[in-house]
Amino acid sequence: MPDPNHTTDDAGIPVPSDEHSLTVGPDGPILLQDWYLIEKMAAFNRERVPERQPHAKGGGAFGVFEVTHDVSAYTMADVFQPGKKTEMLARFSTVAGERGSPDTWRDPRGFALKFYTEQGNFDMVANNTPIFFVRDPMKFQDFIRSQKRRADNNLRDHDMQWDFWTLSPESAHQVTWLMGDRGIPRTWRHMNGYSSHTYMWVNAAGERFWVKYHFKTDQGIEFFTQDEGDQMAAMDTDYHTRDLWESIDGGDFPSWTLKMQIMPFDEARNYRFNPFDLTKVWPHGDYPLIDVGKMTLDRNPADYHTEIEQAAFEPSNSVPGTGPSPDKMLMARWFSYPDAHRYRIGANYKEVPVNTPHATTVRSYSKDGALRHHNPGDPVYVPNSKGGPHADPAAAGPPATWHTDGELVRSAYTLHRDDDDWGQAGTLVRDVLDDAARQRLVDNIVGHLLNGVTAPVLERAFEYWRNVDKQLGDRVEAGVRAKQDERDPKAARQANPARSSAQVKA
Ligand code: NDP
Repeated sequence: MPDPNHTTDDAGIPVPSDEHSLTVGPDGPILLQDWYLIEKMAAFNRERVPERQPHAKGGGAFGVFEVTHDVSAYTMADVFQPGKKTEMLARFSTVAGERGSPDTWRDPRGFALKFYTEQGNFDMVANNTPIFFVRDPMKFQDFIRSQKRRADNNLRDHDMQWDFWTLSPESAHQVTWLMGDRGIPRTWRHMNGYSSHTYMWVNAAGERFWVKYHFKTDQGIEFFTQDEGDQMAAMDTDYHTRDLWESIDGGDFPSWTLKMQIMPFDEARNYRFNPFDLTKVWPHGDYPLIDVGKMTLDRNPADYHTEIEQAAFEPSNSVPGTGPSPDKMLMARWFSYPDAHRYRIGANYKEVPVNTPHATTVRSYSKDGALRHHNPGDPVYVPNSKGGPHADPAAAGPPATWHTDGELVRSAYTLHRDDDDWGQAGTLVRDVLDDAARQRLVDNIVGHLLNGVTAPVLERAFEYWRNVDKQLGDRVEAGVRAKQDERDPKAARQANPARSSAQVKA
């Protein structure tokens, strides 16, 4: 009687051995007809899908989002109606590091969410920061390359990071944030998530609002200092991944409270900041946070590859009652995320169970393509008189649109009254950080600059920080010069002959 748990190949055929390949005699050549050996080698060679570019290293979990407050005056989206509970998935990640890189490097963190709503999947590709380094997608690719690896020696290089940042003053707000305490969260459970982008909400009457999402951690904000982060990177590369897994496995379910900033549609035009500029926040004093609900992660994935690695988040998964805004970075992501998934996972990535709707059915006319395993059947065209699905504007809801016209131009946003690249970064340094946090900011910047940043980029960096805050820039320069002197006093004076040795000692 064969063992019912016998190994088969991928066609379900029993295999003769788990251990021995087929050879001509015990020392003879291996035969091409050993189909099982060949299938094993071929499958192994194809196990990896291309890693994400960026956000390659990450982990995630499933949970539930529950609406606790009534925001139906602002949106008709089913997922935000009072009392509604919706199954969801979250994936957290670093940005620049590769799939095996340490979780505790200084970096923004991805905070991608998928809500399996009754109106289809609603995704949010959020981050743990409310802002970003650039505001125009034309610069995004260059920005990411500057954070990744050099062409010649394949090393990451702080010189190229600061070269890009100091030539891109719009990065100042995000770089200030990154160099501060929140640049290394203690765990994924101890960080907030922000939509960063401005989105639109539309209510049942068709009234439109500009909105920003804030997912505030219920565990409290906690961070690692640079030394703690470095030590953890050496001790446990996967610390954040492990922490999330173990806390959910042990029944300690992390949660985040969703709060919104809501701007009436017509206020955008004359608001003091451009509300669609991804390098800016809306100060809380202007648009206070409004409670919406709570998301709780309570289920670990059962299969990392199929449920997390192949999870495909895309802001264009936008359900009725929600929509985009004129944020140029958001518009680019609307295209580039699905495009990345088609390349990384394949044309039919939405057929992977983690990416299919769980609370409604697909009735689209997409068909065929590589690895398609379910086709809608006939009719394969629309309009038809054969009972196929047809679009219903009532189901799609009032449109999330806005009026625009003008010449085709390549330009920065029209300036609003308080728009500039340094102001909000300076507010963060002067008004939000306390003395101890400011000192850690200086130390983090000095340490980062001393790691391979060369003239003239270094001089530009001092100026960059003086533009954020004069005192901060002076302290950064003094800190860098003092360390240079410690390392090589002669070279430091030659590099900066204007400074007397008395200044150096001071
Ligand atoms: P508020 O004083 O109302 O808010 C300041 C916010 O700063 C806090 O609510 C907190 O955000 C956040 N914060 C606290 N410590 C840090 C830190 N070490 N690094 C980064 N953020 C921190 O002031 P405003 O709303 O007028 O904003 C002032 C500045 O605060 C902004 O220029 C921006 O740099 C920063 N900020 C503003 C946010 C916003 O959406 N308005 C969000 C986050 C930062 P949280 O409550 O989200 O934890």
